[in-house]
Amino acid sequence: MTAHRIDGKAFAAKLRSTLTTQVADFKSAHDCVPGLAVVLVGEDPASQVYVGSKIKQTQEVGMRSIEHRLADDTDQATLETLIDALNADDSIDGILVQLPLPAGLDSSAILDRIDPAKDVDGFHPVNVGALWTGADALVPCTPLGCSLMVADTLGDDLSGLHAVVVGRSNIVGKPISALLQKMNATVTMAHSRTADIAALCRDADIVVAAVGRPGFVKADWIKPGATVIDVGINRLDTGKLVGDVDAGAFEVAGAMTPVPGGVGPMTIACLLTNTLRAAVLRRA
Ligand code: NDP
Repeated sequence: MTAHRIDGKAFAAKLRSTLTTQVADFKSAHDCVPGLAVVLVGEDPASQVYVGSKIKQTQEVGMRSIEHRLADDTDQATLETLIDALNADDSIDGILVQLPLPAGLDSSAILDRIDPAKDVDGFHPVNVGALWTGADALVPCTPLGCSLMVADTLGDDLSGLHAVVVGRSNIVGKPISALLQKMNATVTMAHSRTADIAALCRDADIVVAAVGRPGFVKADWIKPGATVIDVGINRLDTGKLVGDVDAGAFEVAGAMTPVPGGVGPMTIACLLTNTLRAAVLRRA
């Protein structure tokens, strides 16, 4: 059996198409469009590419993109003053500070300064707390994309299913665990100090791999028919991009995301989803 290939590119295109209609409806109702402010400090080449894609896709769905590009040597006070101004600007619904920030800047202090109602990355402690207590929250974009793909594959009630999430980072592992739990899955979180991850995975109906190690999850760790979400993006010396799950798992799983073309394309689509959501909630 070969796994159903969960096509993140097509899924993200569908999300953007729905968003385009929803943004038009928002415009009719409020006589304005949602605004997303993107803050980029420094010249990191990967960040420049990400920010370029975010701006392009924001505009494509009909939202307003406001760009703030700051020099590498920007100090903490200047950046905090900009965040305060964006918090106070009623035409801005979402604020995204592209990470990583240059050395010397305190990322946590900057992220904590963003108004939680405009925190479209979902990293503010208020949103993190809301997610874990089951309240409505702005949820980090990559985990949100993963949960949408799981729901599309298995439905949004995962009662009786066991999910193993490998990785416990604040941006991926922890929030996806909270989301799967909210969908009624029984969730096991594994990490570098976990014993026998292979055995845990073999018992899992859903495996989410967010480790940052090429091919870490082996094909023979996957229960036949399981759903596998591979968050990893690893560039090999050959230049090839691979995930955290061995590609051989496609021969065992029931459904699986490819790398590239799986989780990755969903992240920006979910950022746009969060921006519209923030705009709607701020005007409710
Ligand atoms: P982090 O480095 O922050 O976290 C990695 C996690 O994996 C940690 O919890 C760590 O455990 C665990 N881990 C590392 N080595 C092992 C091991 N040998 N055995 C078990 N667990 C291990 O990474 P991120 O969460 O930020 O990212 C994970 C992957 O997802 C990366 O490849 C990244 O590029 C990708 N990514 C993809 C995105 C997308 O849009 N598709 C977005 C964000 C990330 P411990 O906590 O014990 O150290």
